[in-house]
Amino acid sequence: MSTISLKGVTKLFGNLRAVDNVDLDVAAGEVVCLLGPSGCGKTTTLRMIAGLESASAGDVVIAGRRVNELSPSERNIAMVFQFYALYPSLTVRENLAFPLLAEKLSRTEIDRRVVEVARTLELTDVLDRIPGRLAEGEKQRVAVGRAIVRDPNCFLFDEPLSRLDVELRQQMRGKIKAVLGGLSKATVIVTHDQLEALTMADRIAVMQGGRIEQVASPHEIFTRPVNLFVASFIGTPQMNLLEAHFLGRENGLARFRTAEQELRLPLNGLAERLQPGAPVTLGIRPRAFDLASEPELDTLSAEADLIEPMGAETLVHAVDGKRDIRVVVPRRLRIGQGSVLHLRPKLGQVHLFGEDGRRIGA
Ligand code: ATP
Repeated sequence: MSTISLKGVTKLFGNLRAVDNVDLDVAAGEVVCLLGPSGCGKTTTLRMIAGLESASAGDVVIAGRRVNELSPSERNIAMVFQFYALYPSLTVRENLAFPLLAEKLSRTEIDRRVVEVARTLELTDVLDRIPGRLAEGEKQRVAVGRAIVRDPNCFLFDEPLSRLDVELRQQMRGKIKAVLGGLSKATVIVTHDQLEALTMADRIAVMQGGRIEQVASPHEIFTRPVNLFVASFIGTPQMNLLEAHFLGRENGLARFRTAEQELRLPLNGLAERLQPGAPVTLGIRPRAFDLASEPELDTLSAEADLIEPMGAETLVHAVDGKRDIRVVVPRRLRIGQGSVLHLRPKLGQVHLFGEDGRRIGA
């Protein structure tokens, strides 16, 4: 049973709670990405699973066994670092075979596994080269190959793709995901790159200040962020967070006042828990607006200011009072600076957060 389980895991560095009471279960065959801003505790969490750092409190359980007191090698995990640490004077074949030398396997068995891993990672043609004569993507694949060639309990990746250029990253994301998919091991990947997390993870754990804010599928994290931090951290361009007051209900619509404008939304169920006058934040992603031809009760008006072409789409910064509302529209709409936009939030795509920053409703 290849699983990882963290129970109340905490790491103190002096007074600093680098990791604070983290609970996380990673099932066999599951890929979980730890995602968050610099310093939020991702790497420290990974290092505690690996045994490179001891936990100040809590239990680290791998394959059903508490491993807090075990050394990294006794935990039988495979770790891929940002820096590949390949042996420069050994060929790819020898680099791939290296982790197997300690395992007392026959030469034939070692050769068989190396050839199989090389085939999986498309390294067959470069088996006899030394790392200095490999492209970056190939070096990265050798590093992954060295991790999977043994039969470890689980895989840990620390920013595995951060040194690759954009195109290679995209290729490698798919490749690593496909390879991991065939191995039925629990995998934890640390990244600060949300695209990496959104494409590779079965579930994402969003961290801030040593704590896990939300653990859920990429779809759930994107469509139902539990609080303002997750809402603003995930998604590019960033979600608009519009401060507002709830005015009350009228004809099945919820009325809000925001930056001197009134906005009516069919939020029925959501707004039922709100008291008139309650301060709220409306979260609306830049792609979650339709453009209306004139102001309506369910639109916000804002003047296009900065216009940023983004290929097939255009990012418009529209100003409403002093506030900037980011709107992404198809390029063909050709919005000019100074034009007034009437922004209608798409049905069901408005997120509502209370004064405490937590999501309200479904
Ligand atoms: P990054 O993406 O920048 O690597 P991270 O989310 O991985 O960040 P960590 O490296 O886990 O964050 O660090 C969490 C906090 O713990 C930071 O404030 C960091 O400065 C601190 N920290 C990490 N290692 C040590 C250490 N050995 N001694 C003291 N403080 C540390």
